[in-house]
Amino acid sequence: MEAPKNLFVTRPTLPPLGEYLPLIEKIWASRILTNSGPYHAQFIDGLSHYLGVEHISLVTNATVGLMLAAKALHLTGEVITTPFSFVATGHALLWAGLKPVFVDINPNTLNIDANRIEAAITPRTSGIMALHCYGRPCYVEAIEDIAKRHSLRVIYDAAHAFGIRHKGQSVLSFGDHSVLSFHATKVFNTLEGGAIVSRSAEAKLHIDRLINYGIVDEQTVESTGFNAKMSELTAALGTVQLKHIDGYIEQRQQIDFRYRKLLGNIPGLHFVHPPEAAPSNYYALPILIGAGHHRSRDELYFRLRENNVFARRYFYPLISDFPMYAEPHGQAPEMPNARSVASRVLCLPMYPDLTEDEQERIANVIRS
Ligand SMILES: *Cc1c(COP(=O)(O)O)cnc(C)c1O
Repeated sequence: MEAPKNLFVTRPTLPPLGEYLPLIEKIWASRILTNSGPYHAQFIDGLSHYLGVEHISLVTNATVGLMLAAKALHLTGEVITTPFSFVATGHALLWAGLKPVFVDINPNTLNIDANRIEAAITPRTSGIMALHCYGRPCYVEAIEDIAKRHSLRVIYDAAHAFGIRHKGQSVLSFGDHSVLSFHATKVFNTLEGGAIVSRSAEAKLHIDRLINYGIVDEQTVESTGFNAKMSELTAALGTVQLKHIDGYIEQRQQIDFRYRKLLGNIPGLHFVHPPEAAPSNYYALPILIGAGHHRSRDELYFRLRENNVFARRYFYPLISDFPMYAEPHGQAPEMPNARSVASRVLCLPMYPDLTEDEQERIANVIRS
């Protein structure tokens, strides 16, 4: 018998190649390959319109975007952040020469627990870097209030938050900067890529210069900028992807709905988010395996692997548990919620062309 097809947690979403090829031909003919060409401008316009935010800068990836946002805000010393994220969130802080201070998460949203932030503030704290985990908005009002009272700057890792709205406006409009990822695995992708959202035209200009070596004009360099420019090929792909994104998200919604039906009443299996928890882009469907399930999370994870289903334990281990984040002295901070979720969470395959049969195959392994 043939082995069942491998199902990975994600499969990149690509538009029909025929829609992209004519754009590549134009780029080839024009020889405008990078440095703010016409597709770069067109992609920014399209994103701005779709997302409902005005000041957008395109970058090569979100990790560099987070690092540059921290640089742009002149953060120093300590930055309060979440341990429950992809390692890039912490790495960006380390690259910017900052010390991440980890604060526990809220077990319902999986976002940094705003009620615990103030206790972690010291005279050295300069900012907060929070994640809208799986696209669920942080408690942005509370974070804004804390930031105001303590004169802190706020950066949101919005890698999961493409298109997410909060109380009638884009969730990207909160904080000093929000950073999107367009990596191949995300809801909206340009293979690699990302964007930094700024609050003002002035802040965007500063970011734009940081993306391009800190260059102001031929004779003026204002800062130790980086090279984080998005190429025309990438930007052009972005303009094509934008035409399809609503359809991709609708397909994801149907898959989310089907999983909830298929896995709805399994003892010890809980969905992190209730089905009505709008707004969502259905980036992932995190489940928690707890007491009452006949297998532990890891047993289930390996059982799925034996059946060629590559679910992922996002986010495990916690960022704070990687060696470069270890406290040189004393104990790692206690983060019972983050630790508990990290030991129980599992993300199932979720991407627009996952078929009903494949979902049933996954559900059968989980049930068996
Ligand atoms: C994917 C991801 C990143 C990194 O994005 P890149 O564009 O690949 O650099 C950062 N943070 C989180 C939470 C992510 O999921």
